[in-house]
Amino acid sequence: MSDYWSEKTRKLQPYVPGEQPAKGKSGERKLIKLNTNENPYPPSPRVIEAIKNAAADSLRLYPDPTSLELREAIAERYGLKASGVFPGNGSDEVLAFAFAAFFESGGEPVLFPDITYSFYPVYANLWNIPFTAIPLEEDFSINADPYTGKSGGIIFPNPNAPTGLFLPLNDLRKMAEAASRNKRVIAVDEAYIAFAEGEDGKPASALALLKEFPNLLVIRTLSKESSLAGLRAGFALGSEELIEGLCRVKDSFNSYPMDRLAQAGAAAAIKDAVYYEEINRRITATRRRVSSGLEALGFRVLPSRANFIFASPPAGKNAPGVFAALRERGILVRHFNKPRIVDFLRISMGTDEEMDIFLDECREIISKQ
Ligand code: PMP
Repeated sequence: MSDYWSEKTRKLQPYVPGEQPAKGKSGERKLIKLNTNENPYPPSPRVIEAIKNAAADSLRLYPDPTSLELREAIAERYGLKASGVFPGNGSDEVLAFAFAAFFESGGEPVLFPDITYSFYPVYANLWNIPFTAIPLEEDFSINADPYTGKSGGIIFPNPNAPTGLFLPLNDLRKMAEAASRNKRVIAVDEAYIAFAEGEDGKPASALALLKEFPNLLVIRTLSKESSLAGLRAGFALGSEELIEGLCRVKDSFNSYPMDRLAQAGAAAAIKDAVYYEEINRRITATRRRVSSGLEALGFRVLPSRANFIFASPPAGKNAPGVFAALRERGILVRHFNKPRIVDFLRISMGTDEEMDIFLDECREIISKQ
């Protein structure tokens, strides 16, 4: 604590991201990184080309503050108008703006699950927004009913993180109706939706409900589904009034959150759906294979619809022990020291070769411990 900090700063409890190891010195073993849900495959070559083209003399000029070209590309891809699209510097920034734009500091509490993306309570505290964390069911699924009463708004990821569990659209609709009755916003954080689509033949994305609900905001990121965690690009889709609300917050904070390289790279990614559908199909196939592999070793594996698996080691072994043993063997996964999930590990899907090594190491660790 410093005397120079404002009271606000003293009270902050910042989010702690997963470890990003420093670039290994030559001779050091390369880590297999399965701890921050990045995509193991490279971005589309068209993205790299677009960024190279944007790395030009024009960098001396400020970027388009409205990211119009990117917004038009997103609008075209999802069948919306550019006025229904708000891009930002990663979806974290879009989420932070959404809390500021739509949730009240003096009102009813905002609702989100007790086990969810741990940035939500951080944003709520940053903007002094009261919230209630609604317990997940025993099987870690979201029950829509507790979200249907009075509230200051609703936010949750679908699929949820770190569980990977998916909430069907009819439950989501109940929550959107309740938020609508309260005249509040429901924000659905679809960071992992690309890995849920098509899995049960039904539409997975809340985008299907956008026309019906002007109070619905859908938030996406290019970090996972477009292999662009290093570029920092995310966006929100919603009614013009919601998007205008986000713009008001952005323009009270930073006129240019997306630089020229990010705007160009993100637009190229959005336009290359074919490339990304292919790599993301590979990831969902890997997920199924690794889920079965872990189950065969006695792990409890939640049925994931994301690009990661949430799994608990067999009886007699503990998650922190397996986490540490994997770390020693050069494999990074994520462990959350939090009530209810202390026995679980979150494992991002790597390439098939990486996941084969992961499964082999798990087999050895489990047989030894
Ligand atoms: N939402 C959820 C549920 C996430 O897991 C993440 C990744 N940490 C994000 C949003 C943020 O993604 P980004 O800022 O990289 O777009």
